[in-house]
Amino acid sequence: MDALVSLCKRRGFLFQSSEIYGGVQGLWDYGPLGVELKRNLKEVWWQDMITGHNELATLAGAPSPYEMVGLDCTILMHPQVWKCSGHYDLFHDYMVDCRESKKRYRHDQVRGRFVEYNEQKIFVTTLAEIEHELEEIQRRALKFFKLRAKNAGEISIGSESITLDRLDSHDEVLGPDAKSLGTLTEPREFNLMFKTTLGALGGAEDTTFLRPETAQGIFVNFKNVLDSSRMRVPFGIGQVGKSFRNEITPRNFTFRSREFEQMEIEFFCHPDQSHDWYRYWRDRRMAWYTAMGLSSDSLIMREHESAELAHYSVGTADIEYAFPFLPEGEYGELEGIAHRGDFDLRSHMEGKLDPATNPMTVQLGEDGKPKYRGSGKDLAYRDDITNEKFIPHVVEPSAGADRAALAFLCEGYTEDQAPDEKGKMQSRTVMKLHPRLAPIKAAVLPLVKKDGMPEIAQEVYGELKKHFNAFYDAKGAVGRRYRRQDEAGTPYCITVDGDSLSDRTVTIRDRDSLEQTRVKIDDCVDEIRQRILA
Ligand code: ATP
Repeated sequence: MDALVSLCKRRGFLFQSSEIYGGVQGLWDYGPLGVELKRNLKEVWWQDMITGHNELATLAGAPSPYEMVGLDCTILMHPQVWKCSGHYDLFHDYMVDCRESKKRYRHDQVRGRFVEYNEQKIFVTTLAEIEHELEEIQRRALKFFKLRAKNAGEISIGSESITLDRLDSHDEVLGPDAKSLGTLTEPREFNLMFKTTLGALGGAEDTTFLRPETAQGIFVNFKNVLDSSRMRVPFGIGQVGKSFRNEITPRNFTFRSREFEQMEIEFFCHPDQSHDWYRYWRDRRMAWYTAMGLSSDSLIMREHESAELAHYSVGTADIEYAFPFLPEGEYGELEGIAHRGDFDLRSHMEGKLDPATNPMTVQLGEDGKPKYRGSGKDLAYRDDITNEKFIPHVVEPSAGADRAALAFLCEGYTEDQAPDEKGKMQSRTVMKLHPRLAPIKAAVLPLVKKDGMPEIAQEVYGELKKHFNAFYDAKGAVGRRYRRQDEAGTPYCITVDGDSLSDRTVTIRDRDSLEQTRVKIDDCVDEIRQRILA
């Protein structure tokens, strides 16, 4: 992971936000290569899920043909949206405070191990990355027991690393930044939404929140989209955009950020078919990640147990990836696919429903009135053929663009051997990104900076640039230039050599197989396009 983080900074994939001021935890900027990767990722998702979807065909596994459209909603919305969606009351994590260091941590994210010395057993915690966890726990335990490194053999460290939320008491816990035991408070709820104020007056009714998910913008526009597009159920509405969560312990690079982007679909269907659609979306989204290059060995689909599900849901599954910063055998969520029944549309219509009731009824306040009033708008759908009126059920595939980008970077990062100009094997670092995701599709390299080669290379480059993000590089030994492109994840290097002058051909080098193929200069654009889409 350290090697990947350093490559991301060195080559301009990711920078810490406001780095010159010391950075801000949980906020990340995408550099010149990173921005292209993330834009490609979102564009590929949009193309595959929305604009490229063929609503006339029945896709494999789908119960019927269906339509897809997109939407782009505001980040700030009416405060009532968050009350009816449940985020106002329920969107929280448990946190613990340290009375000594004054720091705050997420209860389920502080890890540690039991350590025994001289008949005393304590629980030593750390926020260190997993590969440094054991050595950090040992260092902290030695310090706590006032021992030197040479006494390390006298303490016994438990073999299992567990999170704080699995302990019954914090009395014997050494907090991540504390010197004494028992400084962590009991866990408390902490709402993850960022509060802000609309307008200059700043009264209580002007308080709203930066959206913690893009989904609610889709629900509140359901009727607008329906009326303006004349679509028939089943159909889906997709949205890509920023979301904000005031995560208590943002960590693991971009995995848990405070500002991130989501790619979400709300799929509206007839209640009788919602089970089949849930299964369809779960499998379709899993297949998308493997098609984009994530190895199926590192991906799992985790179906929630029925006890974890809300009673109105027929299923929820998380697509999870074995991120290298997680302990062996643990996976991190890339995307959740949830069957949400009619909870959201009805809550925005009638008032926030009580998810514990069955059938669901509006949650009432102490005065017997709805705790959070809905819009009062009729969000039911009438089928113009059968004349049936119903509130559609929803299947929600909700993905994170930053987590997906991180997974593709982790998967792509490879150290292998490749021959240099003299045929001698050298180790190389290569970012094996799918060509559709790669920031630069092709680099154009004149073999030498003379004999008319740069002129031809510039002609090829000019043509490519009309279609793809290409890169021109004439500086330094060609082997070094290949290496730079390998690290940037560029799938194809086009080299102009002596033969190019006489027969107007160039070589295309494949980043992964290192195979070189000669193609006509006039066919270059088509060849690259075909390879990207292959
Ligand atoms: P987690 O349990 O990891 O906090 P979640 O279950 O709360 O995630 P959802 O509310 O289902 O996440 O959000 C959908 C997707 O949005 C997640 O699968 C993830 O890809 C992305 N996401 C959520 N929170 C963050 C975050 N803090 N940073 C980056 N991506 C996030």
